[in-house]
Amino acid sequence: MSIVYFGSPRQARWEAKESLPAKLDLIIEKLAIRDRVKGETVAIKMHTGNNLSYSTVHPVFVRKVVQAVKDGGGKPFVTDVNWDARGAEERGYSSETIGCPVFPTAGPDEKYFYAHLRPYKNIQDWKVAGMIQDASFLINLAHAKGHPSCSFGAAFKNLALGCMVGETRGAMHDAMHFDKYWWAERCPDAAMRQRIVEVCPHDGIVIDRDKPEEMHLHFEQCNQCGRCLQVAPPGSLKIDPVNFHTFQEACAISTAVTLSTFEPGKATHMTIATHMTPLCDCFGFTSMPILPDAGVFGSDDIVAIDQAALDVIGRTRLIEENLPTSMEVHTREGHPFRWIHGPHKDPYLVCEYGEQLGLGSRQYELVDVLPVEQITRTSVTYISAK
Ligand code: SF4
Repeated sequence: MSIVYFGSPRQARWEAKESLPAKLDLIIEKLAIRDRVKGETVAIKMHTGNNLSYSTVHPVFVRKVVQAVKDGGGKPFVTDVNWDARGAEERGYSSETIGCPVFPTAGPDEKYFYAHLRPYKNIQDWKVAGMIQDASFLINLAHAKGHPSCSFGAAFKNLALGCMVGETRGAMHDAMHFDKYWWAERCPDAAMRQRIVEVCPHDGIVIDRDKPEEMHLHFEQCNQCGRCLQVAPPGSLKIDPVNFHTFQEACAISTAVTLSTFEPGKATHMTIATHMTPLCDCFGFTSMPILPDAGVFGSDDIVAIDQAALDVIGRTRLIEENLPTSMEVHTREGHPFRWIHGPHKDPYLVCEYGEQLGLGSRQYELVDVLPVEQITRTSVTYISAK
């Protein structure tokens, strides 16, 4: 059983000490960050967003973490992949605001990495960014939000994609195509292939530009509605869970590779579940929040923290009116992130794969660092406005 520290977004009173940054401070205390980082070079891995996004982890939270590391005698730096780190100051992340520099994880051109051999489907080696592997302590400071490939991104996603160079990130997405889903010989009619494309309302399937008899699924767009299966000739196309699940298994393996470069006890995880959008922070914009803020979380167990964040988020409600009109809810089973990204994109899968790899436990105790005071009142006396 792992401990996950939690700060609720709800307040009883209008006091700063009950707000989320103050609760993150309490979590930092519980995780004993100051006691653990003396003399350590601390990589604070976060997603700094891209272009016009403004819903990633707010600099007020980042500064809390940076300050704690400095207080403890550690040497902090914030880091993210090159194309997000470049321009991070435009979204509020600069030395002046957060208290430490922002470095690209693998250098400006992603040429600085360490390769780790671990064959999985189309992937032979995993290229861990040099600034990550060179650090002696890792703080995984994640923002919870949706994700088109796996429906949800937080602690696992922040490391799985964000600590690898672009070549490996691309291969992880390509892994979804590893298991066969299209049998061209069963659909020789070009007009039928065009019909399959046209019946999809999400641009989820396309015809190969060079080999017109081949078709490709765009797994990010596909919400597994099944419309294409109703027109495709029998046996020509599969919308198969294995292709979708592969991405999450790859995320778990990628995370395992990165965490293996740190000594035991030298990595910890924090998740900020505020302004959760349907898609990842890398899309270059922020859309409306589709779930109420769910709080702040902290744990040394990456499996437990994602499991707990998902559980807490799942007990809120989907703000359906905030979804982009191009998205549709065609299932209401399981987690709300699954509702909007489709049944084969169950956000809990990465926790299952992570647990199988020995990265942590899905069993956790949620410790509320400042339980919300329940205010009792006497019954009201009616005062007429007249
Ligand atoms: S299952 Fe639905 S979303 Fe996916 S490719 Fe087919 S029609 Fe498009």
